[in-house]
Amino acid sequence: MAYDAQAAADRFEQADPRDILAHAVEGFDRIALSFSGAEDVVLVDMVADLGDKVQIFCLDTGRLHPETYRFIEKVRDHYGMDIELMFPDPEAVQTLVRDKGLFSFYRDGHQECCAIRKIEPLRRKLATVDAWITGQRRDQSPTRTAVPVAQNDRAFSAPGHPLVKFNPLANWTATQVWDYIRDYQVPFNELHERGFRSIGCEPCTRPVAPHEHERAGRWWWEEATQKECGLHITNIREADIGNARESA
Ligand code: SF4
Repeated sequence: MAYDAQAAADRFEQADPRDILAHAVEGFDRIALSFSGAEDVVLVDMVADLGDKVQIFCLDTGRLHPETYRFIEKVRDHYGMDIELMFPDPEAVQTLVRDKGLFSFYRDGHQECCAIRKIEPLRRKLATVDAWITGQRRDQSPTRTAVPVAQNDRAFSAPGHPLVKFNPLANWTATQVWDYIRDYQVPFNELHERGFRSIGCEPCTRPVAPHEHERAGRWWWEEATQKECGLHITNIREADIGNARESA
């Protein structure tokens, strides 16, 4: 019988992330955690208690901060875990850079570069699993306010291959995440100590001021409602739908 993501979302709406993860791991043999090299490390810490069933991967765009690369290695050593790095197709990167240079995203938007450096490698990885786990939280940005703890992933499912996405931190706040990191002495990316809150690629991430929204430092030259790289593009569509309803 097909997995009922809506029922899980309802059941675990206010659940502890560890209970959501345990449910996900119990229900899927082929399941992976997308680790971005930022504060979603709390999920790595949590799945470490659940055996070695969850595959952990990072999207190595080739444009991450040196601090993030060092952090990924630190996490690998700390937990003794395999962390699979997914690389973009070299020919696609070469063509993009040859035709448009290294910083085309400042001129014509981040979607094209993200599609090559993030989405295609992610799609390749997700084709090998039936469920994946992300660190999305509702308090992160205007595009994430309706993120459920479990959902059918309409963006990355394929004919004959349904994919479920779990967002165990959906109902956690940044404060809860950082309380966990401190309480359990979880390693964290040193960029967080320099004003970076949401961390992505080096050219597309900058520190944020205390009054700014967490993801204000990502693609800061673009509209806040467009700040998804395609990994969670359904958030934008759902936000658009919500906006349209509100203005109707
Ligand atoms: S975040 Fe920036 S550098 Fe990274 S893949 Fe997207 S556009 Fe390219």
